[in-house]
Amino acid sequence: MATDPTLDPALRCWVPSAHAEGTDFPIQNLPLGCFVADGAAHVGVAIGDQVLDLRAARDGGHLDGLPAATAEALGQGPLNALFACGRAALTALRGRVSVLLRADTPAGVRGQGDAARLLRPMREVTMQLPCAVGDYTDFYASIDHATNVGSMFRPDQPLLPNYRHVPIGYHGRSSSLIPTGTPVRRPHGQLAARPEGPPTFGASARMDYELEVGAFIAGGNPLGTPIPLREAEGHIAGLVLVNDWSARDIQSWEYQPLGPFLAKNFATTVSPWVVTLDALAPFRAPARARAADEPAPLPYLQDRGNAAAGAVGITLEVWLRTASMRARGVGPERLSHGGFTTMYWTLAQLLAHHASNGCNLRPGDLLASGTVSGPERTSRGCLLELAWRGAEPVTLASTGETRSFLADGDEVILRGWCEAPGAVRIGFGECRGMLVAADPGEEA
Ligand code: CA
Repeated sequence: MATDPTLDPALRCWVPSAHAEGTDFPIQNLPLGCFVADGAAHVGVAIGDQVLDLRAARDGGHLDGLPAATAEALGQGPLNALFACGRAALTALRGRVSVLLRADTPAGVRGQGDAARLLRPMREVTMQLPCAVGDYTDFYASIDHATNVGSMFRPDQPLLPNYRHVPIGYHGRSSSLIPTGTPVRRPHGQLAARPEGPPTFGASARMDYELEVGAFIAGGNPLGTPIPLREAEGHIAGLVLVNDWSARDIQSWEYQPLGPFLAKNFATTVSPWVVTLDALAPFRAPARARAADEPAPLPYLQDRGNAAAGAVGITLEVWLRTASMRARGVGPERLSHGGFTTMYWTLAQLLAHHASNGCNLRPGDLLASGTVSGPERTSRGCLLELAWRGAEPVTLASTGETRSFLADGDEVILRGWCEAPGAVRIGFGECRGMLVAADPGEEA
């Protein structure tokens, strides 16, 4: 990994904004996304404040010699066809894009001369979901989140006995995955004030966000063929930020015995840029160590490489901007900050477990981590935990407002980035969405 030339901190890019202080998208990042321009979906790479159009690059002769399947996949978004080419093809493409964007290569000089055709200002394009997601699975991989939530609902037994053995997950809904910036309408549902009911039907009064990291599948496996843990990362294209919007009052009534359903399938926001595992290589970290009194994972969830570097060092933040903040012209306020290395299960373990029964994962499928919470109060990844089920409302400094749950007009912004000695900082961009009032027509 140290010899990967695309990660060299000394690389110079001919796109000036790729060197802007604090940019999420230097030449060492090169995340993939799907943008809409001129009525068509394109495959793009974020570079500084620009988007490199890979079809234009291909058609302009800047990517000659790519395998036919890769070249074909660059012709049209979303990224499913490209991810179907597999992780190695993405690595090879990344190498070519890096050379094309370098200021000191013949290909880069030629690319710069063709910049007007290759680049589009990011602010002028609309980002779609990176993939047409066939299946979306949401896990529950933070033991701190599971313990916090469990202690609210089961004080005598916060963590169920299975947690340290089996990565808990459920099949989510792909049709309601939405790109960043899409408003989220407050849902209606069955609400029960007491655990035994009876319920009423109305607008949720306990709306929440969940800070999560998602992994898009590259390659995949045939039905009936598991993916061993040591090969799992070979099936991950890259990572995004995910907000798993949740209606806590609907959830607490409906979740037993089959788990989340309508409390979570009305909207899930996904950030637009898929940060590849190649770009994340300098930021890998050991998987969370288990204490001496904790059980070891079963053998199919154990691997030396996974233990040594299965985690990803992403700093994660949640920001909130209320309607009142917008009216006063003040910026968003940070609600929490934490890191992705505190997760109990690694992404590779989640993927290997998912396929361990032969379940087939397909290119463009999305696996989300579950709410990312750390051990500190400041690193709790949802309002349910931050405000402790309403017992400790969060006060917003700039306006004096308080929040136990989200109010209409609240905009939730997730941010993530990676820093490490000897590496250039890279970021994920934003995962942003605003909660809007429930449809009044449904009240009748
Ligand atoms: Ca979730």
